[in-house]
Amino acid sequence: MKGKLFIVSGPSGVGKNTILNRVVAGRENVQYSISATSRAKRPGEIDGKSYFFVTREQFEAMLQQGELLEYAEYVGNYYGTPLKPIEQATQAGIDVVMDLDVVGALKIRKRVENAVLVFVAAPSFDVIRQRLIHRGDVAPDVMESRLERARWECEQAGEYDYIIINDSVERATQELMAIMTAEKCKTMERIHIVKEEL
Ligand code: 5GP
Repeated sequence: MKGKLFIVSGPSGVGKNTILNRVVAGRENVQYSISATSRAKRPGEIDGKSYFFVTREQFEAMLQQGELLEYAEYVGNYYGTPLKPIEQATQAGIDVVMDLDVVGALKIRKRVENAVLVFVAAPSFDVIRQRLIHRGDVAPDVMESRLERARWECEQAGEYDYIIINDSVERATQELMAIMTAEKCKTMERIHIVKEEL
């Protein structure tokens, strides 16, 4: 059985990374998709782990050579999903979790039939603002653009299959795991097992 794509979106600062790290650590047969980006590395980020950090020119070359499954521009920087690791994982039956903006998520929805789209929201918009300020790794001039983009992203949440409210990291992580488990139990995923028995 091929692995499935689970796309997780949500406003900057909502805590997607924490949830995804926990899901990857706590669940078997799941891999995190490491994106390429032209944005500068933040303190604590590791090249090849958090992202593949590339120049705009390198990103554009990847794009032209068809190496990306999707890409988007987010607050002045490119972000894109390398295709090859996803093909390899899904062929090997491994599920892939991806942290994508809304534009990228909706592109994947059109291209990959059974991809699952999950939106992570904060309990309130003020929580997002506070988290971004406290995280301290976003420059003040970028902050307003990110908040504006976050507001627009929340308006698109109705396009998603599931919504998780991140008021508790534990619960949000459990909910994402539950969604993944339920999706793997869907009839279309398992009917062949039942039929093989007949
Ligand atoms: P950040 O700069 O905070 O790490 O990420 C900014 C936004 O880019 C987030 O909303 C994140 O979901 C999105 N993002 C990260 N990687 C990708 C990607 O490969 N493709 C797309 N479309 N968005 C991405």
